[in-house]
Amino acid sequence: MSRRNEWTPEDDSAVAAGVLSGRTAREIGEGIGRTHRAVSVRITHLRKAGSIPKVNITSAEIAAQEAVEERKRWKRAKKRAFADKCRLDAKGPSYAARMLGCSVREVRELLAECRKLKEQDAWKDKRTRSCSRCHKVFTTPHKCRFLCDSCNSYASSMGW
Ligand SMILES: [Zn+2]
Repeated sequence: MSRRNEWTPEDDSAVAAGVLSGRTAREIGEGIGRTHRAVSVRITHLRKAGSIPKVNITSAEIAAQEAVEERKRWKRAKKRAFADKCRLDAKGPSYAARMLGCSVREVRELLAECRKLKEQDAWKDKRTRSCSRCHKVFTTPHKCRFLCDSCNSYASSMGW
């Protein structure tokens, strides 16, 4: 066997380091002056020998990372709903930030937006009608109020 084909411990550690940092066999080969084919064969050998962990990170971790990448592409409304769900589940903003791949500050912004929108919705739920005295359109949370604020206070002052 020629000197050229022998794998030195230095070569092997370069291969292992390359694999763990996510480099391709070709890139690793260029670094140590070998073909990508030779490097691929060596990687298989080193994996079998246990010199390179079979997987750098677990498949569950990869899936979780991919899910985060997917959530990063979500529309803001969807992120808002997610952050709100985390809050309702008592998961906390740092959990939501990790899941969404954003900062805790952004999560707090999302939650603030969510709160504002809910307030707006609550306002919409209030009853809008026209005043039975002056016909001005007004909104009231009270089901049985048919006078606008000014007519209502006028009516109260009249002792109605
Ligand atoms: Zn009125």
